[in-house]
Parts: sequence; structure tokens; C-alpha cells
Amino acid sequence: MGSRQVSDWQGRNITVAGLGVSGISAARALAGLGAKVTVVDGGSGEAHEARAAGMAELGIAVRLGDAETLPAGTDLVVTSPGWKPTSPLFAAAAAAGVDVVGDVEIAWRLRGPDAAPWLAVTGTNGKTTTTRMLASILTAAGLRTAAIGNIGTPIVDVVLGDEPYDVLAVELSSYQLHWAPSLRAHSAAVLNLAPDHLDWHGSMEAYAADKGRIYGGNTVACVYNAADPATEDLVRAADVEEGCRAIGFTLGTPGPSQLGVVEGLLVDRAFVADRQKQAQELAEVADVDPPAPHNIANALAAAALARAFGVEPAAVRDGLRAFRPDAHRIQHIADVAEVAYVDDSKATNTHAAQASLAAYEPIVWIAGGLAKGATFDELVTASAKRLRGVVLIGADRALIREALARHAPEVPVVDLERTDTGAMSEAVREAASLARPGDTVLLAPACASMDMFTNYNERGEAFAEAVRALADEHA
Ligand code: ADP
Repeated sequence: MGSRQVSDWQGRNITVAGLGVSGISAARALAGLGAKVTVVDGGSGEAHEARAAGMAELGIAVRLGDAETLPAGTDLVVTSPGWKPTSPLFAAAAAAGVDVVGDVEIAWRLRGPDAAPWLAVTGTNGKTTTTRMLASILTAAGLRTAAIGNIGTPIVDVVLGDEPYDVLAVELSSYQLHWAPSLRAHSAAVLNLAPDHLDWHGSMEAYAADKGRIYGGNTVACVYNAADPATEDLVRAADVEEGCRAIGFTLGTPGPSQLGVVEGLLVDRAFVADRQKQAQELAEVADVDPPAPHNIANALAAAALARAFGVEPAAVRDGLRAFRPDAHRIQHIADVAEVAYVDDSKATNTHAAQASLAAYEPIVWIAGGLAKGATFDELVTASAKRLRGVVLIGADRALIREALARHAPEVPVVDLERTDTGAMSEAVREAASLARPGDTVLLAPACASMDMFTNYNERGEAFAEAVRALADEHA
């Protein structure tokens, strides 16, 4: 770690908002650089006390039970991603003329002069998948890399660690982008834009503007989704370095400066010598797991970023072949009585659910949970003709039931009132009785899980367990 960085932080009074994973990591890193750190958190109780004690051993002060007032003498506030911009602590900081930044901004400021460049990924859906695909491709190219940001090791720890990286694949949420004003990626992609987290950002415009920050200062490529004009608008609005190119990806035949699909192949018409006449084959569609349309789009975006970094076509293919999706993202659990059971518990919003419903037909759809203010008319209209039947679970299931009644009245619906954790096994049984051979039972809830489960992982596990029990009965 260079002396320049240490002298920048020595003795500064830093308030860290939030005693969670990213807050703890930022606090430790900054204290390690000589800053005087205070972590504030509105929570209290045993778990918080235990964490506070751990911090105290490192010379870090913790103030529990008050998330609102700004500690006297604060020079800079470092916030955890979940804190809303409207939090009173930030109003207090603004009133005192103190900047508020996030862990990504801190990581960016802590990079040494020869640090690895960042290839950055954001979007409403597909971020983790695309970032991990990108890391897989970079690894196949022989580069030292890691998938970080909203995933994996806390970003500040990676930047300060001893591991020498050639390039980093960085997943960035809209929250992280909001609080990272000076970030400058080598190249970046916005995968798609659909309403999500609007309660946090305040409006769709504010959400889009925060996503668009990822393009600011890009040096080589701004990658956008040709099927989602809002992403291209963000490229146009971005202030990039001279010579930085706009690169589109499409599930159709690519035009010049695009990557796309031709006869079952992923092809590149952007990073070739003559993009008017030439197209470079990168991989087969069958190399992408699973080969659902939205996932091929993710693969094209990852390929575009890798190609922008100079990766050879063969490494794109090898990296995609080596990639396996994380659990609960369109994960095939089992076939029972010639019906496929697929877990996409991670489809926590309507945009994600619509993508996964588009990948199968006919479907018995298991949906419901916490709607987070969403409406379901568009999703139901787009998917109606694929539906064999629907099983609804969770707190806001009436919203989906009403949308089905409006746009797909002929589709049979089973509405499950019980919300205990055993409800999922009943949902799977109901789905099994609606399904016919050749169908897919798809858990793609379009809702958050916290009304019935700890998180989407637990919801997916409950589904998988119920499917395995069903399989045992048929064995
Ligand atoms: P994120 O990190 O943005 O939450 P993930 O890669 O974890 O995204 O995928 C979350 C869910 O979003 C998946 O389970 C799938 O339902 C859906 N999804 C993935 N990629 C896309 C895409 N490109 N467009 C729409 N939905 C997608």
C-alpha cells in the first residue's frame, strides 16, 4: 500500500453509516489507514453489541441506537448501499457541508496508480450472472481477475489486498453508483432498465440517472442493449473519454459496432478490423448455460466487455463454456413424471420473471410474495399464452390474481392462503397436478420473498426440497 494513500486518510474523522458487511469492511480499511472512524447504526441488541465489541478492538468507535445525528467533527460520511438518500444522517451531513460516499467510491479512491482497470456491469437484472460470466472469460484468457462489487469479497478489501490483478469484473448496483461520483471504468455495460427500487431512488428518472453514472469517464467502450433504448440513451448522455465507443448487443443479427446472434452463433461486428464487412465468430449459443434468451443477452454483454479489453475470441468461448450459473437463477431441479421443475427464485421483480417466463412453454407458474409496489398487468399480458396454470403464494398474491383475471381469465389459478414455510410444498403439489407431460413448473415469483422466507435463497431451497420429495414419491 503506497504512502500517498496513507497520508490521504491519516487522522481524518470518518463516519461510517451501517454496521453490516460493507460498513465493517470500509471501517476496518479506513482505520487501518490511520483514519479516526465511528460507525453509526440505528440497531441495537446482542448481535449489534457483539459486532461493536469486535470493532472496538480495532480502535473503531461504534454508536448504536442512533442512525440520524452526525457525530461532531465528521469530515466524510461513508454509507452502506442500503441507506436511502433521504436518510436524516445525510441531510445532517449536507447541512454541515460534509460529503457522503459509498464503499465503491472509497475503493476507487484507494486504488494505487498502477491498479487493475475495472470492467463494470449494471442493469436491473442479470448483473451477477454477467459479471461472473465476464470473470470466467477473463480467466480463460489467462488474466488474473475477480468478480467483485455487489458480489464476492468486499470491494475495499480487494483493492487494498496483496493479490495482483490484471483487471477486475465489477458488479455495481444503482445504490453503489449513486454514491460513487468519481468512478471511471475502462468499459461498462448497462444490461437493461426497468422500474425497480423506485422507493429508494424517488423516481424512474433518478434511478436511470444513477445507473447511467457507470458510463461516465469510460475510456474504451460503453456497452448498451439494442433492445432497450433507455440504455442507449444513457450512453448518449454520458461524458466519456475521447475515442470511447458505443457498442450494442442484440439477440438479432448485429449491425456494425454490435455483438449479436447469427445462425446459432454469438458473433462480434464491433471489435474486428473491418466492421462494415467482417463478423467474428465468438461462441455457439449452446455454449451458454442456460441458453434462455435473456441469458444469451448477458453472455453477449460479458463478451463485449471482454473484447473491449482485448480478449481473443477463443477465450470468450472457453470462458462461457466454463461458466455455471449460481443457484436459484433458472436452475433445473429435476424432471418428475415428464414435467421439468425450474427454480428461478431470484426473479424478485416483474422484469426478471418476464424474462424467465419467455424461456419456457407451456408453464405452470408459481408466483407471489412481496410486490414492492409493482403492477403485474404487463407481465401477465406478455406471458398469458404460455401459461398452463398458476399457483399463487404470499402476501401480495391478490395483485397477481387480479391481473390474471383481467388479462388471462381462462388460465386456472390456485390461490394458496397459507403463508407458513410449508406452503411451498403445497404449492409444488398443486403445480404438479396442473402440469401435463412436457410442461415446465417454474418458480419465478416476480416478488420479494421476505413475507414467507428469510430471503430468495431460502425460498428456492424450499422449492427444491418439495420437488425432491415429489420425485421420491414417483421413484
Ligand atoms: P442481478 O444481479 O441483477 O439481480 P442475476 O444475474 O442475479 O441479476 O439474475 C437475477 C434474475 O434476473 C434471474 O434469476 C433471472 O430471472 C433474471 N435475469 C437475468 N438476466 C436477465 C436479463 N438480461 N434480463 C432480464 N432478466 C434477467
